[in-house]
Amino acid sequence: MAGEEEREKLVREAVSALQYLKALGCDYIPDGPGIRALFGEGAQMVEARERMKEVVAEEKVVVETVGEPTAATATSLQSLNLEGERPSVTLEEIRERLGDCARCKLSSGRQNIVFGDGNPNAVLMFVGEGPGKDEDIQGIPFVGRAGQLLTKIIEAIDMKREDVYIANIVKCRPPENRVPEPDEVKACIPFLMDQIEAIRPQIIVTLGGVATNNLLGTKGSLGSARGRFHTLDHFGSLVMPTYHPAYLLRDPAKKRETWEDMKKVRDMYNTLMKGE
Ligand code: SF4
Repeated sequence: MAGEEEREKLVREAVSALQYLKALGCDYIPDGPGIRALFGEGAQMVEARERMKEVVAEEKVVVETVGEPTAATATSLQSLNLEGERPSVTLEEIRERLGDCARCKLSSGRQNIVFGDGNPNAVLMFVGEGPGKDEDIQGIPFVGRAGQLLTKIIEAIDMKREDVYIANIVKCRPPENRVPEPDEVKACIPFLMDQIEAIRPQIIVTLGGVATNNLLGTKGSLGSARGRFHTLDHFGSLVMPTYHPAYLLRDPAKKRETWEDMKKVRDMYNTLMKGE
């Protein structure tokens, strides 16, 4: 019966892989450079890919809409990092290396470095723009009114704040809460990238256009980026851009769209957890 068990396992893996690809926006049974990048080109991987296709055909697993893969999907697939190696750095090491940082001019006005907060093994991570007044005083991200709203958003998808990890693009408060300048982002963002490397979150929610553009290296509007998953190069984390809670406090009508984004995050989280 070993063959039967193996077949069932393969079917489960195939279905799970298809659900994952579909959630990424891939609406066809894939082959070509993107899928080869996903599965690799070793002999075993080629065989596994062929067998998965056979099982999918046999089980009549249908991926709903038929269409051409988008360039974004192909890029996503090629950039997925599914190697599964252990993180090369820990949060403690990164904090130690950051030290009493004066790598940019934001150091002169801060009270505290706001390094990040939460579960070091989080599957879900939130990235904001930078600390505000309350965060600067307490040294913890998202503790003011916007932070309280973020906590409610997290709880609305059936998670607790302590389940996730929260950080910002810059770790020191910009004066008058202005947008961080390019030289400040350039100095600080490597530490955020190291935190992502240490945590290896499968999903990252970027809060607002500044966080989204700086993390994804894009220049577009938040409106054009939100509502769908992107992939973070190298790490392979799925990135869902949505509105910053501070913006939601100013424009509560945007809460509905934020909720739509967060439902996608919750569904993806549940899909990924089922596949583990
Ligand atoms: S914002 Fe980042 S790079 Fe600039 S001083 Fe603070 S910790 Fe250092």
